[in-house]
Amino acid sequence: MRAIRRFTVRPVLPQPLEALGELAGNLRWSWHPETQDLFASVDASAWEASGHDPVRFLGAVPLARLDQLAGDAEFLGQLAAARSDLERYMTGERWYQRSASSETPLPASIGYFSPEFGITAVLPQYSGGLGILAGDHLKTASDLGVPIIGVGLLYRHGYFRQSLSRDGWQQETYPVLDPDGLPLSLLREEDGSVAKIEIGLPSEESLTARIWVAQVGRVPLLLLDSDVEENSEVIRTVTDRLYGGNTEHRLRQEMLLGIGGVRAIRAFSRITGATAPEVFHTNEGHAGFLGLERIRELTEDAGLSFDAALEVSRAGTVFTTHTPVPAGIDRFPLDLVAQYFGGDNACPGVPVDRILALGAEQYDGGDPAMFNMAVMGFRLSQRANGVSQLHGVVSRGMFGGLWPQFDAEERPITSITNGVHAPTWVAREIFDLARSHGVRPGPDPDADDPHLVFDVVDKVPGKEIWDTKRILRQRLVDDARSRMRKSWKQRGAAPAEVKWIDSALDANVLTIGFARRVPSYKRLTLMLRDPDRLKRLLLHPERPVQLVIAGKSHPADEGGKKLIQEMVRFADDPEVRHRIVFLPNYDIAMAQPLYPGCDVWLNNPLRPYEACGTSGMKAALNGGLNLSILDGWWDEWYDGNNGWSIPSADGVDDPDHRDDIEATALYDLIENEVAPRFYDEDEEGTPVRWIEMVRHTLKSLGPKVLADRMVRDYVMKLYSPSAQSSRTLNGDYAGAQQLADWKHHVRTGWSGVGIDHVESSGISDAPEIGDKLEVRAFVSLGSLSPDDVDVQVIHGRIRHEDDLVDTTVSSLALGETYEAGRHRFEGTVSLATSGPFGYTVRVLPKNPHLASAAELGFVTLPHY
Ligand SMILES: *Cc1c(COP(=O)(O)O)cnc(C)c1O
Repeated sequence: MRAIRRFTVRPVLPQPLEALGELAGNLRWSWHPETQDLFASVDASAWEASGHDPVRFLGAVPLARLDQLAGDAEFLGQLAAARSDLERYMTGERWYQRSASSETPLPASIGYFSPEFGITAVLPQYSGGLGILAGDHLKTASDLGVPIIGVGLLYRHGYFRQSLSRDGWQQETYPVLDPDGLPLSLLREEDGSVAKIEIGLPSEESLTARIWVAQVGRVPLLLLDSDVEENSEVIRTVTDRLYGGNTEHRLRQEMLLGIGGVRAIRAFSRITGATAPEVFHTNEGHAGFLGLERIRELTEDAGLSFDAALEVSRAGTVFTTHTPVPAGIDRFPLDLVAQYFGGDNACPGVPVDRILALGAEQYDGGDPAMFNMAVMGFRLSQRANGVSQLHGVVSRGMFGGLWPQFDAEERPITSITNGVHAPTWVAREIFDLARSHGVRPGPDPDADDPHLVFDVVDKVPGKEIWDTKRILRQRLVDDARSRMRKSWKQRGAAPAEVKWIDSALDANVLTIGFARRVPSYKRLTLMLRDPDRLKRLLLHPERPVQLVIAGKSHPADEGGKKLIQEMVRFADDPEVRHRIVFLPNYDIAMAQPLYPGCDVWLNNPLRPYEACGTSGMKAALNGGLNLSILDGWWDEWYDGNNGWSIPSADGVDDPDHRDDIEATALYDLIENEVAPRFYDEDEEGTPVRWIEMVRHTLKSLGPKVLADRMVRDYVMKLYSPSAQSSRTLNGDYAGAQQLADWKHHVRTGWSGVGIDHVESSGISDAPEIGDKLEVRAFVSLGSLSPDDVDVQVIHGRIRHEDDLVDTTVSSLALGETYEAGRHRFEGTVSLATSGPFGYTVRVLPKNPHLASAAELGFVTLPHY
């Protein structure tokens, strides 16, 4: 019989053991092996049986054992030490507190909004890289002392659990998650009642949500849950699944995340006294409605106009875009947005036509019937970024329609390359190896500099590295076998049919990993392009390779499921099944032993669709070598010796032909470079040249791929400037209204701006380096004044006919003002390089509150 509802009764711990509850209630345990050891020492078999889930585990430890420990002085001593360690972690001064200064004002707090968070396997609220990144961001912020408040949704079924049918078709199940059985606590008012927020919906309906708090080290994560009695049956299901349901369902989810998320922060601050964020960070477009809610607050509570409120809100908002795949951009029919934000649900200060304009695809190729969340994200945030340098370039191209008059480099989208949280992803044995050679890896404030940590690999003998890798490979083999047994049982195999699994995979064979979601651009089946060639690699008599593969396809993506089936059918073949396995249900629990167990991490996306990718970074930190297309982060940091690049046939238009070329290159690399090097062992059985590459990988990539580097970059390049901008407009808000008025003045007056004439003098017919060119520009400004504009001369080398490259920009000074709004601007330019040289002049809006010259999208160039 199936229960229609379930709940979890939490254990009452004996008073001396109460600290166990505290340790279980703070997710820091998930990246702190010492705390996990303590749980295991309570009851090793219950800890294993719980799947390393402290909440479930504490409910399963027999009372007699708890009573016994309550009188065990040694255990109580360890428990007290663990608790005070956590307390120190929670309160001590860390990098952030030490970094604030008058030149670098840091925000008092940051709100970080994301549709998914991947923190631990026991809180399955993620589907893939976006969520894992958000989880790593919060954990690292906690380690560095960055005062973030996370905001997301609590999905009743999370994403889905993947299994396989007998013939290899993906099956999805949606287990019910009971929040009482999760490491969460309910936000309550001081009187003990459940705190709730409400948002309006059309037809006088509303959505009420309660707020669960997950404690991620020092960082609280607020998760909104619509499954409450006040809601109608339909509205209760708003937070049922991650990325499930139709368009309207998704719009409701995103309204709850953005609008409800800001309200949840306000409730949390009111109740707990937590500092309100000065900066709001939208991780991908889904949470973008948060900007509308902040505008509403400012119009209703502070009496600002819409435009002034928009300036205040934008100044304090950061938007990160995460995908160059057009289908990955979130869009809604304009009518639906109008229905949800207009009519009886409209807010007086936030007119629906203004909302619609924010998401309108008003550019070449845009669809006038669609509302685009990424486009709104850029318009509602003064600062935006992509997630690798290449993705920055691609995004500046892809969203160029928002700043059509600007060259790509000047469009205001910067990039911060993703990173990964080492304490979560690096095997304990590797930290132990580093410690045994005298370094103190982070994240505590006294830890050694990351560069020093990675330099230690030169001191560790190759044999020790190799022995450790073998242990990690064996752990992966064991884990894979147990997953295969479970999977085959589910696929209907009898025990006698699966004896072969006992010898599937081999801890001495070169192990290649490939695990990620299965959208088509990631090309799960590229390796199957020439099945016979792959077979020969797997079955090579001296230099075999083995492949461990995993990944979920979105339930609505039939194409992805076909690719999985193709892969599973290949791996089911008795001839190769001991050398290639597809493991169902890729998640954090599988990933943690997978990366350390692999020697090579394979990634073969269709360039340039992999915005960054992070799994290869996790492999690298575990002494794995990357074998990848030059896309995302690998395009940036591959240096010729820290792994291998699969040549990309970017320019080849026929996708089949392109796949053939790239697959052949992949096989060639494995056969001729990777395998020979792996199996080239010295007398001690250590592959010396391989170990050299591992060492070089750790030293060259280690410090870069850390999420510490990423979060520090966000703080210094985006959060701090954003806090500064927002402070200058906050105060009494006078600056915000002035800025809004000034923008209006510029928008209405810009058509009157023109460059009438440019002249230069000061150089001879045969100019030489060091000569000074005097430039004079005669400019009409119409209703604008010289203070409103920056008249610039842009000079540099000439390429081809008249293309300016390697340019330098300098501002010209006002020389003289004539009648009728005409002015002369002038300045000198030094000729600094030899060869063809050229210059041009342009006029841009100028205001100290602008973060980028392109912000308003206006520029005037000479029209001759
Ligand atoms: C790291 C990770 C991902 C993201 O990997 P990509 O390389 O960015 O595709 C997805 N799922 C899990 C479980 C991960 O650990």
